[in-house]
Amino acid sequence: MGKSCLITGGAGFVGSNLIRHLASRGMRLRVLDNLSAGRAADLGGTDAELLIGDIRDTQLVEQAVQGMETVIHLAAHTNVIESIKTPEVNLEVNVKGTFNLLQASVKYGVKRFVFASTGGAIIGEADPPVHEDMAPHPISPYGAGKLAGEGYCSAFWGSYGLKSICLRFSNVYGPFSYHKGSVIAKFFRRVQVGEPVTVYGDGAQTRDFIYVGDLEKAIVSALQIEDLPFGEAIQLGTGKETSINELVVLMRKVVGEGIFPSLVYQPSRPGEVLRNYVSIARANQYLSFVPATTLEEGLKETWRWFKQES
Ligand code: UDP
Repeated sequence: MGKSCLITGGAGFVGSNLIRHLASRGMRLRVLDNLSAGRAADLGGTDAELLIGDIRDTQLVEQAVQGMETVIHLAAHTNVIESIKTPEVNLEVNVKGTFNLLQASVKYGVKRFVFASTGGAIIGEADPPVHEDMAPHPISPYGAGKLAGEGYCSAFWGSYGLKSICLRFSNVYGPFSYHKGSVIAKFFRRVQVGEPVTVYGDGAQTRDFIYVGDLEKAIVSALQIEDLPFGEAIQLGTGKETSINELVVLMRKVVGEGIFPSLVYQPSRPGEVLRNYVSIARANQYLSFVPATTLEEGLKETWRWFKQES
């Protein structure tokens, strides 16, 4: 593993967790973040250097990459619905921004480039478990943009020998997720303000929830391991399927019976994927990835963080 690392989007949810992990390994860290979602304060207690700015700014991207041995590219617009409303913004940030990072990485001799991608939005409707050999059929601009990013990672390995690897995240949860619109963060915020929790549809829909601490380990392995399928994608998750109804039961247990608010059922969101979980066979093969945190343990950690934040 190189001794220095640029983390784009490093002040965001995954970044704030990851930086603590990398700092504990003695790495020199630089963060490029426009603070549109993350908070500079969340880098507190680490020695990470913060460059505030946008990945659309090619000059700034060059400045950020210069002198760094490795890059973890997390910065992105992650909201699928927003990408449908303003696809051109998504294209600029998620595709052109990724391209800018890749180009600068080649120019400054970066040794490893890890790209945060997604399985669900790239593959689209498919019978789970979702895996890397499935043909991509994105149904949102967000999915198309991430697929394009993967395409460029592959091309920059093929054309310039940049050792890129695309990690497809399933539904990630954990500390530092206060600003996320994802279901677990949203439900914990509702618990804190004592407002009802909204379940879309009948709650039988499923997801593969991965604890951010397990995800971090996989990212570190992707920086370290020499024998990887460069230019390609590796799916991360737990391989386990959890329905929203099951999630509610666990969250109620973690938070406390009397504290968890009432449930309100609303119609399914348009385009809602009903079942989703992933195969982690490839992650296990190449990254020796074995998620260690049960959903209940991960929820306890996350709730501890939310309580201490309020
Ligand atoms: N969900 C829900 N209530 C909410 C937010 C989400 O029931 O307030 C459900 C949603 O229908 C989906 C799951 O939780 O089945 C995960 O939603 P999220 O937006 O976190 O992730 P994604 O749908 O992109 O996988």
